[in-house]
Amino acid sequence: MTRTISILGATGSIGRQSLEVIAACGIRTAALTTNRNVKLLEEQCRCFLPELAVAFDPQAAAELKIRLADTPVRVAQGMDGLLEAAALPQADTVLTAVVGMVGLRPTLAAIAQGKRIALANKETLVCAGELVMEEATRCGAQIVPVDSEHSALFQCLQGNRDRGEVKRLILTCSGGPFFGKSAEELQGITRADALQHPNWSMGAKITVDSATLMNKGLEFIEAMRLYQMPPEKILIAIHRESIIHSLVEYCDNAILAQLGTPDMRLPIQYALTWPERCPGPAKELDLFSCPPLTFARPDLETFRCLKLALKAAERGGLACAVLNGANEAAVGLFLQEKIGFCEIADRVAQALSRVPQGDHRDLDAILAADQLARKIALQ
Ligand code: NDP
Ligand code: MG
Repeated sequence: MTRTISILGATGSIGRQSLEVIAACGIRTAALTTNRNVKLLEEQCRCFLPELAVAFDPQAAAELKIRLADTPVRVAQGMDGLLEAAALPQADTVLTAVVGMVGLRPTLAAIAQGKRIALANKETLVCAGELVMEEATRCGAQIVPVDSEHSALFQCLQGNRDRGEVKRLILTCSGGPFFGKSAEELQGITRADALQHPNWSMGAKITVDSATLMNKGLEFIEAMRLYQMPPEKILIAIHRESIIHSLVEYCDNAILAQLGTPDMRLPIQYALTWPERCPGPAKELDLFSCPPLTFARPDLETFRCLKLALKAAERGGLACAVLNGANEAAVGLFLQEKIGFCEIADRVAQALSRVPQGDHRDLDAILAADQLARKIALQ
């Protein structure tokens, strides 16, 4: 059970919800970080009184220092600030809720200190999953997932001692806002269309990933790394209702599922309290008012990003780092309205045609592959 936590990305969707959980569960904070949202970070610091507040952006950090001058909270900036927040001795847990590959080095820094990692930042596991999992084993750091599907799998795997007994992991997928649309219909999708998600309210990048279904591809790779499963043992099932958050099928054909309202505060809380449970702010599920539960296969021809991610997962090596880097860059361009919705997949495909050789367990090789993929995607 977590007693003191550092939250990387406290001002984001996951970060804000985790502070609600922390307040309800009586957990203390050691460090809170943001990129630029100093107004909200100031409010959070006044409320939770961490030792350290970090703004990644240097200008924002200068402003934060002035805003917090009358408090005991120390202010730091940039990657050094994030690394310090990740390694602060008084925190037993670090919640990684920054968006994107920028979370990789801080995650490794927290692992090196043997802390529990409550992991929301899936990009880190996609681009450097083998390295991160090996480091965690070496340093005795637990990695507990925050992503709702992986939390569901984690909950369904409690008590499982022999991975050989697991027949397959079944990842559920809402299908996103464009479920059922044809490839032609996807052509005219705008930024505003893509930022509407039917069941979850999240940050902009993951909302776009959920619309292209790249999010499910990233989650497929995340599940491979977290649970050491080969791709053929992971199945994706479209489940529009987002009530079953994922399932584990065992060798005797028993299937265990975790159900709940679509409320991230539950998986966040479980990552902090595991192996214990306690009452918390997540909404109760009323079984008698649930819609019928439906399942369908994903349409890989229309949602090309998912197909590309499954191919990268199969291919291994540095392909997943390239997939992730190119996707981050392409989604950035789409959010700036510089490219169309379907061009995200085009650009990721271009980058995947040029995966460099190199050791996918070596941090420098991963960072180089990420940079190359971004360059190709931005051209
Ligand atoms: P948001 O965009 O809402 O928040 C991201 C946070 O990271 C903010 O605090 C932001 O600061 C900070 N940040 C952004 N860029 C940088 C940077 N370059 N350096 C340092 N800090 C930065 O994202 P979400 O909360 O939605 O997602 C966070 C992570 O959790 C992602 O990896 C996502 O895939 C994962 N996740 C999210 C879910 C959700 O429901 N939202 C569900 C499952 C996983 P600022 O406020 O200044 O922008
Ligand atoms: Mg998810």
